[in-house]
Amino acid sequence: MIPIYRMKVIQIEITNACNQQCSQCTRFIGHHKKPFFMDLDMVAKAIESLEGYKEQIGIMGGEPTLHPQFKEVCEIVEKLIPNRRQRALWTNGFKWDEYKEIISKTFDKDMIVYNDHKDMEVGEHQPLLVAAEEILADRELMWRLIGNCWVQWRWAASITPKGGFFCEVAAAQDYLLNGPGGYPLKKGWWDKNPNEFMDQVKRYCPRCGGAIPMERVSSHAAYDLVSPKNAERLKALGSPKYVKGNYKIFDKKLTEEDIERVVRAGWTPWSHRPYKQSGPEIKWTDKNELRENNKII
Ligand code: SF4
Repeated sequence: MIPIYRMKVIQIEITNACNQQCSQCTRFIGHHKKPFFMDLDMVAKAIESLEGYKEQIGIMGGEPTLHPQFKEVCEIVEKLIPNRRQRALWTNGFKWDEYKEIISKTFDKDMIVYNDHKDMEVGEHQPLLVAAEEILADRELMWRLIGNCWVQWRWAASITPKGGFFCEVAAAQDYLLNGPGGYPLKKGWWDKNPNEFMDQVKRYCPRCGGAIPMERVSSHAAYDLVSPKNAERLKALGSPKYVKGNYKIFDKKLTEEDIERVVRAGWTPWSHRPYKQSGPEIKWTDKNELRENNKII
């Protein structure tokens, strides 16, 4: 684990509403009975709580443009984050045409992560509802893998209406499973090293599959892989995706050899596709410059 203050992004989750229901969604879309929409005061409070944080502050969902006050959210971002290079947006482009003007006024092109999830050739997601504690009898191995979790090393910490979290998936799990909530949004809540957020690690990571090398599932599959106890939790919650039967039970025990096989086969769960995209017409890779309609911009 790395300190939250060293993480490259802290997301502000303004909604968990989404027009899509990808398999193994990091925000567990499809399992909630009702979406949340973060109110504007809380958006401002979330940004203000990050005073002193030097890396990217992301606006994320769900699909953030489904927030009924998305325009106002952008205005708050513009006012409270004066450094444009700190502002970032994650969108699947659902309301791109409606909001493209305010989006380009607020965010630099290369700070927009546009992922319409429509590319059927690529896109695999790590099963996050397969609980590490259910599939790994070897606890020492489980904690070793959790300590190296790629989500926490490579992706983001997060703020939901329930507070601040060291990991975006932990934040989503807290919301889904009615957890106790995150750190209160006092200024500097994020200035924590791993020892200081171990309470959250112990609470959320054992019920999560993020850190465990295992076969991934196409993001276009119609189901989530779920371990038995997590399935019971979803059933108790009345998860719509569970009720519709859009899940498959993963009831295996993994050994260190199983894990090694997956790692050797090239397990890179952070990489869903070989390119980045910053708008419907803008694709690029780390090696290429940002391109729009084949012109370098
Ligand atoms: S195991 Fe899950 S909750 Fe823990 S850091 Fe990894 S993705 Fe986050």
